[in-house]
Amino acid sequence: MTLVFARLLREHARGESERVVHLIRLPGDGVIPSHLAAQCGARFEPYVLESLPRPGGAPCVPCLAAAPGGDSSADQFIISSNMPGS
Ligand SMILES: [Zn+2]
Repeated sequence: MTLVFARLLREHARGESERVVHLIRLPGDGVIPSHLAAQCGARFEPYVLESLPRPGGAPCVPCLAAAPGGDSSADQFIISSNMPGS
């Protein structure tokens, strides 16, 4: 499983408050599913999201709280699908 940072594209968000950065789970096989699930439980269609190369903007707090590694540096939340064991 891969975790990526993503947020709603501006045209799909009802205001900046909806543009928090979620942690989105991607399956490890590289196939983009019809719906993407965030760590906080929110679900999105892939086309409404933009992925972020690194954390930025306002984070989704429930996503961060549910992220592996707890509340340490956000950089550690990026888990590569190439890591052994995933
Ligand atoms: Zn979230």
